[in-house]
Amino acid sequence: MILLFRTQFYIEMPTLIKALKHRSVPREKINWYNNSKWIRLRNQKRMDNPLCQICELKGKSKLVNDVHHIVPITNGQNEQEQKMLAYDYDNLCSLCTECHHEVHQMLLNNSEEYYLLFSKFI
Ligand SMILES: [Zn+2]
Ligand SMILES: [Zn+2]
Repeated sequence: MILLFRTQFYIEMPTLIKALKHRSVPREKINWYNNSKWIRLRNQKRMDNPLCQICELKGKSKLVNDVHHIVPITNGQNEQEQKMLAYDYDNLCSLCTECHHEVHQMLLNNSEEYYLLFSKFI
């Protein structure tokens, strides 16, 4: 699944980000986080990447606080797609609180900065 999204990501990330504003599935419909599957996956990612990956790009070392979904779960057009995005290890990125806040601001602003930044990870 991530391969499909990777392809879209490279070609159409700005479109994908814009799609956030026209999502067909309400953001809060399903809680993807409140279960042992997510907790295991998040812990695995935090063990594999214990430092914020954006800070690392800038040559800084900061401990991870949050595990971020590169392609937002809400970009999935139905429950099945959202589930795949939620639990795809390759769609995850370790971030500190500050960087996590920043990337969500970029998403809110439909910023191409987001695409440029994450194209370095995938
Ligand atoms: Zn950071
Ligand atoms: Zn996030």
